[in-house]
Amino acid sequence: MALLLKDCHVIDPQVGLNETADILVRDGKIVEIGQNLTMEKGVERDLSGKIVVPGLVDMHVHLREPGYEQKEDIASGTRAAAHGGFTAVCCMPNTKPIIDNAVGVEYVAARAAAVGKCRVYVAGSCSQGLKGETLSEMGDMVAHGAVAFTDDGRGVQDAGMMRRVMDYASQFDRVVMSHCQDEGLVGEGQVNEGVVSTRLGMLGWPAEGEEIQIARDIALCRLTGCPLHVQHLSTARGLELVRAAKAEGLPVTCEVTPHHLFLTEDDIDDAYNTFMKVNPPLRTAEDCNALIDGVVDGTIDAIVTDHAPHTHYDKDCEFELAPFGMIGLETALALIVTNLVNPGHLTWERAIELMSANPRAILRVERVALETGSTADFTVIDPEATWTVDASEFLSKAANSGFIGTELTGRATDVYVGGYATLEDGKIVE
Ligand SMILES: [Zn+2]
Repeated sequence: MALLLKDCHVIDPQVGLNETADILVRDGKIVEIGQNLTMEKGVERDLSGKIVVPGLVDMHVHLREPGYEQKEDIASGTRAAAHGGFTAVCCMPNTKPIIDNAVGVEYVAARAAAVGKCRVYVAGSCSQGLKGETLSEMGDMVAHGAVAFTDDGRGVQDAGMMRRVMDYASQFDRVVMSHCQDEGLVGEGQVNEGVVSTRLGMLGWPAEGEEIQIARDIALCRLTGCPLHVQHLSTARGLELVRAAKAEGLPVTCEVTPHHLFLTEDDIDDAYNTFMKVNPPLRTAEDCNALIDGVVDGTIDAIVTDHAPHTHYDKDCEFELAPFGMIGLETALALIVTNLVNPGHLTWERAIELMSANPRAILRVERVALETGSTADFTVIDPEATWTVDASEFLSKAANSGFIGTELTGRATDVYVGGYATLEDGKIVE
């Protein structure tokens, strides 16, 4: 099967491409990129005015299957991913049961192959049952396709245990992704500890509860040599720790979510605004500004959504009773384009590194680039499309977004995975 994309604005910093060209695809691979390409027989699309980039990857999502299918499942979560412009996601292991053995990895991979609308990479847990006590079956999970390890959702509390996790993971050249939260310090913290926690009368989740574990895990990275990826960074001092580790030459990378870049604790205007309850919590404007600087200067490696779907029922309660988390797959690209790319703070090249090239490199999965021979995973973006975030338009089962009602510019119109359209003119291809 052949596919010809005509008059695309192709951008890929991996190969130094930023020009108008045609892309010819055959049997799932790029055959040629150039001018005035033609083909005998196949599907031809005119993409003039559109930007075509290597397929976007979200390396931090919760698909909730198995165990919490009322919130999301692999079918709905990957539809949301395709709708948001992603060709691949990496799903977290805090399902029910926890993905801590090869059977769990194989289950998710098989479901994704059967019903998925994008590629799904599976992260296995570090510890059995996320309890932080006994190593998960890491070697067996790697042998069955797990790409990384994390106890996301709570983090590994004991430093000795984390050392064993990193020692073991380094034998497989797999990254350990760390959810940095010191439970002793954070306790039942609900919102960032400071002015807003005081005003709302809620228990605080201090920045130090995150920073102490970032510092600990950087030290363990130095001790073990295991690649460390700091998940959903939210504080300015946490970013400084990562910056220093990188300057030292340690194999440390980090990610940030759009909600930690573009929302602050001040957006929690009352005690029922549960869509704004996330973990780590929304921080201060100073933290947001520091993180945006980190995105621009390259200290931050990846933009992720930490897509965390919950039912209406889960979130329709007092703040203290609501679960943490916000969805993000269908708004992330537009938030980055609207707030950073279109105003000129971030180049398209850098945005593509953050949302495509770097996540693949961190996860050690196949490189995808706009070059001959590469797998034909593309995201097609209309950079001028304006739209308003409307909960009724989400393809996720959930609607717990902090950005509902926000006017955005830029949107994925088409998505190709292995040369086949999963999204065409904004609609999922069934
Ligand atoms: Zn987490």
